[in-house]
Amino acid sequence: ERKQHEIAMHESQERYRALFEKNHSVILLTERATAKIVDANNSASLFYGYSIEQLRQMKITDINLMAKDQLKKKLATVNKERSQIFQFQHQLANGEVRDVEVYSGAITITGKTLIYSLVHDISERKYLEKKLTEERTELQNAKDQLEQKNKQLKSSQTTLIQQEKMATIGQLAAGVAHEINNPMAYITSNLRSLDKYLSKIDEFLTAQQTACSEVDNKKNITALMTLRKKLKIDYLIEDGGELISESVEGAERVRDIVQSLKTFSRVDEPNTKLADIHTCLESSISVIWNEIKYKAKLIRQFGELPMIHCFPQQLGQVFINLLVNASQAIEKDGEITVTTGCVDDTIVISIADNGCGIAEEHLTKIFDPFFTTKEVGEGTGLGMSIVYEIIKNHHGTIDIDSQVGRGTTFTITLPISAPEHNEHSDS
Ligand code: ADP
Ligand code: MG
Repeated sequence: ERKQHEIAMHESQERYRALFEKNHSVILLTERATAKIVDANNSASLFYGYSIEQLRQMKITDINLMAKDQLKKKLATVNKERSQIFQFQHQLANGEVRDVEVYSGAITITGKTLIYSLVHDISERKYLEKKLTEERTELQNAKDQLEQKNKQLKSSQTTLIQQEKMATIGQLAAGVAHEINNPMAYITSNLRSLDKYLSKIDEFLTAQQTACSEVDNKKNITALMTLRKKLKIDYLIEDGGELISESVEGAERVRDIVQSLKTFSRVDEPNTKLADIHTCLESSISVIWNEIKYKAKLIRQFGELPMIHCFPQQLGQVFINLLVNASQAIEKDGEITVTTGCVDDTIVISIADNGCGIAEEHLTKIFDPFFTTKEVGEGTGLGMSIVYEIIKNHHGTIDIDSQVGRGTTFTITLPISAPEHNEHSDS
């Protein structure tokens, strides 16, 4: 019976031995406490390139590239209750390094804890994964680049449309300005003459009145006076004067608009001058000081600026237009901050107000000629289009930053070395 038992034991041992030795998986048995490899199967020998005997002389730390303490800590987490899957790098006898996935579990035999490990070579999988990630990144990069290009295209398209529009409007404006100028000249001059005439008639009538009061023929004179009353001559003279001065004002307004249109279409443009932007700013400020002073505090934050070649009068116009808009955006007790400085090879001028701000849907329109949100009589809608045109003429840029209810900042940049010649001798 004892013999029977021995045979059964032997058979069972043989079965498990075969299961271990003939297995296609790489199997290692390691002593947990010492990290010594106590057994390895044939597949392990083939995989690592060491004989089984050699492997039995080695420690797992000779194969695994992980730092020894770290690896020991990992192995310590494997116990009977808890098998684990690790990813390691194992080094073969020929020095090659392979990515492996290791299924580890623990068994205890006669008081010693052994770790059995099934080792799978996943180098190929790792390689493919890496490649895939690389390809994905490349694709993503290509996509980003495309999107970037697309954005650039869109923005240059918008710029082109804007430029085209401005050019057309510019020509139109030049024509209109020219046409209006002549009749306006004689309307204004006629009104002035009429005003003189009226005051002469008034003077004469007053003299006549005095003369009449000293004449005896009361009847005739009373008739004359009645007629004077009936025809409301006194009122006519008074109101006539007002009508004329109102008309003169209107005519002056038209003249200003025409002047703006001319600037806008660069009809009369001198050559560039070497000018100081701060001087330009100061003269613009003084021109419109009356409009600002009751509404807002003006804060100057001036930096150091070099002189630049520019059209100083045109830039003066830009500052006036921006300052007027800033002041008009403020109801009362506001602040307008003018900041200047140099960034790289550009001059930066910003004009900020804490006024009403610009509604988002208006932001794209404010440079359009005749776009205005102001009452008839207050705004012509030409200011910003002129600003745009002049800044473009200086090869500069203008940016808006605005928040409704908070205020608006216009930032102008001008290249320090602008072209010195007058480019628009064609207009
Ligand atoms: P105008 O001042 O005659 O209306 P502009 O071309 O100067 O014409 O300005 C166009 C429009 O842009 C204004 O009507 C206004 O709506 C808006 N705008 C310009 N500057 C400002 C500002 N600083 N704050 C608020 N709105 C502004
Ligand atoms: Mg304006």
